[in-house]
Amino acid sequence: MNIKANNPELKSWVEVAEGSDFPMQNLPFGVFSVEGDTPRVGVAIGEYILDLKNLFELGYLEDTPFELADFDAAVLNPMMLKGKLSMRKLRDRISELLSVENEELQKNKEEVKQVLVRQDDAKMHLPLYIGDYTDFYSSEQHAYNVGCLFRDPNNALLPNWKHIPVGYHGRSSSIIISGEPIYRPKGQKRPNPEQPPVFGPTNLLDFELEMAFVTFQGKPLGNSITTEEADDYIFGMCLFNDWSARDIQGWEYVPLGPFLGKNFASSMSPWIVTLDALEPFRVPGPVQEPKVLPYLEYEGDKHIQINLEVAIQPEGTEETVVSNSNYQYMYWNMNQQLAHHTVNGCNINCGDMMASGTISGPEEHEYGSMLEISWKGTKSVKMKDGTERKFILDNDTVIMRGYAEKNGVRIGFGEVASKVLPAK
Ligand code: CA
Repeated sequence: MNIKANNPELKSWVEVAEGSDFPMQNLPFGVFSVEGDTPRVGVAIGEYILDLKNLFELGYLEDTPFELADFDAAVLNPMMLKGKLSMRKLRDRISELLSVENEELQKNKEEVKQVLVRQDDAKMHLPLYIGDYTDFYSSEQHAYNVGCLFRDPNNALLPNWKHIPVGYHGRSSSIIISGEPIYRPKGQKRPNPEQPPVFGPTNLLDFELEMAFVTFQGKPLGNSITTEEADDYIFGMCLFNDWSARDIQGWEYVPLGPFLGKNFASSMSPWIVTLDALEPFRVPGPVQEPKVLPYLEYEGDKHIQINLEVAIQPEGTEETVVSNSNYQYMYWNMNQQLAHHTVNGCNINCGDMMASGTISGPEEHEYGSMLEISWKGTKSVKMKDGTERKFILDNDTVIMRGYAEKNGVRIGFGEVASKVLPAK
């Protein structure tokens, strides 16, 4: 696949610092506003945001299949409804306009001022209308660890796990943007299995290191998307912290699965990095044994190498990195997840969010939740300020970052950071 905007040789006339998450080859989409103005669609470049509403009004996007309302919008959905090929054309055109070799926009200093906003001067918004949110459970190490902790190391994976990309329907209303705090949830829990349950704030608040993908409009109800077609239905990805209250979860989850231990909040990073921008970072996935059913078979490299990290920042002190993982540790890839999700005829819509499930690598420092890092609270992690953590405390900020890197090109996701406030 030859995607023009991915050319590693491309350089921009907009200054991009070494090690920036947002070089020319990235061009992720988000929704931003500056004081006194309405939210609109933008693209990150270096430390700036390219304002697509103003860019359109100045006539620079005339040869693309888009209209003003696609960018003069508080969410990305109208733009995304134009589909994968249109989005590729748009990204290529933006790349052309930002290229150091193209004079069109570069030479009009007054217009440049109208279309470039410093990220520091902008507020980022939840960039999508998310109709439905699905959470998978697709990292083998995570599923194995949880199986060991709650069941039996000899039968850690349930019999269906290697046959089905296990998932459940989450709640989209409580997906929040990076920077928004969460309140420690309250609920029923049963700390002593010999005693009746009690009610109160969770004592076992946890993060889940995940990545999520966002879909384009799917097919009508009754149709399926194959693993081969799946790429055409995936717009892009973001970082995703799927907050969990382990004590509430542990008491409620039988027989119907996650509910109040999960649906109080999930935090997402503000920039959607297109699947197109991630194509150069594809890698082979694990050998799937036992062999999967034909509808889950796939061809080519469908996994993606993305370095991930989680840090905890106690209030007023520096952060401590508690996990380094990688998106390539997924057992099931996005194509298989989407094929499985729709194999029964379930429809997907533009802006649906599909999270990976906690991404844990094989080494202890690669575990993607405090549940695993503290091994269910049996050991603690030392913070740089001298305090210790088994789970997340009030006023802690949890920060996740991620980037793919190859041939001198770094495609970053920025970060998702949320502070935990005491229970209301
Ligand atoms: Ca999850």
